[in-house]
Amino acid sequence: MKVLITGGAGFLGSHLAEAWLDRGQEVTILDPAGDLKVRHLRANPHFRAIRESVLSREILDGLVAWSDLVYHLAAVVGVEHYVGDPYQVLTVNINGTQEVLTAAFRHGKKVVFSSTSEVYGRNTAVPFDEDGDRVLGSTRTDRWCYATSKAAGEHFCFAFARMGLRVVVLRYFNVYGPRLDQMDRGRVMTIFIGQLRRGEPVTVIGDGFQTRTFTYVDDAVRATVQAGLRAEAEGQAINVGSEEEVSIRDLAARMIRITGSPSRISFVHQDAVYAQGYEDIPRRVPSVRRMRELLSVRAETTLDVGLGQTIEWFKRQ
Ligand code: UDP
Repeated sequence: MKVLITGGAGFLGSHLAEAWLDRGQEVTILDPAGDLKVRHLRANPHFRAIRESVLSREILDGLVAWSDLVYHLAAVVGVEHYVGDPYQVLTVNINGTQEVLTAAFRHGKKVVFSSTSEVYGRNTAVPFDEDGDRVLGSTRTDRWCYATSKAAGEHFCFAFARMGLRVVVLRYFNVYGPRLDQMDRGRVMTIFIGQLRRGEPVTVIGDGFQTRTFTYVDDAVRATVQAGLRAEAEGQAINVGSEEEVSIRDLAARMIRITGSPSRISFVHQDAVYAQGYEDIPRRVPSVRRMRELLSVRAETTLDVGLGQTIEWFKRQ
């Protein structure tokens, strides 16, 4: 099988590329970023990296025509972008998705679209059922531009599905693991890992009672591969997540314990970290029934095991 992964040089895409190569398939990634996260795959004759944007229409069209299955992961992701450059988030995420779906529709190829648990916003009715409500704040709060861009992408997916496109929407819940982000950058775990290494205070934003369910990348990748293979998944939105809910203050305490770092927790006001335009999400827990029933996948990696593996990997870098 020939697998195209847009955004394949990113964190999740690089692991997905590896998984399909391990299954003996041909993988092409389309990504304008440097290939740091896939450099270990470069020598593989079944692997190809095209350093272009998903908005390069002709190149995208040729690659979709070549492929049997398209994973659309290319997106601008990360809270610093939502509040720092909402224009870029909206342009790449909405227009890029429309381009990919249009090309896939033209060539009759199946698409797996990577959406996000952010689409549920600050809904407090956990666990989030896939058909549950999206509860977002004002458009004056930049944070919501990402959830909005991904929700628009989902609407495009379902609109194309009505016209006959085979498409699956996956909503990921805080996926983490080796190669996540650069230390000190991006998501909460890589920020904490940098602080722990230097023995500096771990910056918990707010009171730290906000929760997440962190999903180890291997579990997320198994679900993503199945979404590409299973006909039952087509036309569906499916949460991809763990059920192990943890507060951010508990996450900080666990990471301090696992690393044995002398760091302490310091509680900081969100204005000290993010400019105006940030609003936190109080709880985020998926309903995983569809993932189990349609993909036959469960998140098997406990947070302590996954954290141990992730921290170990960053230590070796
Ligand atoms: N967070 C924190 N300290 C940091 C960075 C993030 O306490 O230095 C919190 C953040 O406020 C949120 C959670 O960690 O409640 C997860 O943040 P992240 O940016 O990783 O992803 P999100 O789930 O918000 O998209």
